[in-house]
Amino acid sequence: MKKSTNNNKVGFTTSVPVEVLFAAGVIPVDMNNLFINAADSSRYIDTAELTGFPRNMCSWIKGLYTVAMECGISEVIGVIQGDCSNAQALLEVLQEGGMRTYSFSYPYDKDERHIRLSIQNMMKHYGVGGKSVAREKERLDKIRRKLRKIDAMTHKDNIVSGCENHHYLVSATDFGQDPDRFERDVDAFLVRVKERAPFDDELRLGYIGVPPIFTDLYDFLDGGRARVVYNEVQHQFSMPYNCGSIFEQYLRFTYPYDIFGRVAVIKKEIRKRKIDGIIHYVQSFCFRQIEDMIIRRAVDVPILMLEGDRPMALDARTKLRVEVFLEMLKSRQGQG
Ligand code: SF4
Repeated sequence: MKKSTNNNKVGFTTSVPVEVLFAAGVIPVDMNNLFINAADSSRYIDTAELTGFPRNMCSWIKGLYTVAMECGISEVIGVIQGDCSNAQALLEVLQEGGMRTYSFSYPYDKDERHIRLSIQNMMKHYGVGGKSVAREKERLDKIRRKLRKIDAMTHKDNIVSGCENHHYLVSATDFGQDPDRFERDVDAFLVRVKERAPFDDELRLGYIGVPPIFTDLYDFLDGGRARVVYNEVQHQFSMPYNCGSIFEQYLRFTYPYDIFGRVAVIKKEIRKRKIDGIIHYVQSFCFRQIEDMIIRRAVDVPILMLEGDRPMALDARTKLRVEVFLEMLKSRQGQG
């Protein structure tokens, strides 16, 4: 039986089994997308800081707080294991303020029994059964297959930009809150892009880490004739796995588990997509910065780590570091 609410927008802090939410008839909202796409996203951070969130804390968490408070969300799902412990404190603050909350966990041990239990508990909370969830998975998988085409058009056909790839793949966490509309948008893009001539890049880049808070990173890279042909986490959000079972799908999703699973996939994609260098984006005050050490030791192409704090265009120092990195990659190719 589906639960009904007057306001049926359910926000979440990172990708969750969205099939369950669609089966429940609620509208899933990836609060990260609402925050970063807001015209006044910096104001969202200021609002959270005025409420009491520390200045030296990740801006995404502060942005999510203001989205939850201001954007008509009726319940927030916090991923308290497998993403970020800040999400737990965020959930507690929201709960204290009267927001309905639900916590979801990805098991660190990647045990099939544990992810099954997490998803089954979520299904129970939203009052949905396995059949309706499977139907939603089938419907979303059809769109995910189209996203795979966009991804192939990025790295094989070379007719999709890194920013377009980012936009479509990152939107797969909540399908723009409306899968039918999102699918029409994807279809129109696939038709439009087919007519393009391939890009004449000098460099092929991989982008790894959480999506950028910088507003112009992809444009700046394009200006240096360096196109992103792999967006790691966004690629994961699009669930490119062809799994029959929802449990298997959310086990293969590398982002919420240990760094070693992510590294194995990153290495495979570097080879497959013929990547010259990697931009590793990290967020200020994020524990994931530590993982750069492990990635650097495992990956055999040059890596530039970029750190961002608030939503803004690239600052002069970061631009200079990117330019030097691109020049170094070009000279490695003998093109400098
Ligand atoms: S960027 Fe890092 S600190 Fe911020 S919400 Fe994501 S995982 Fe947490």
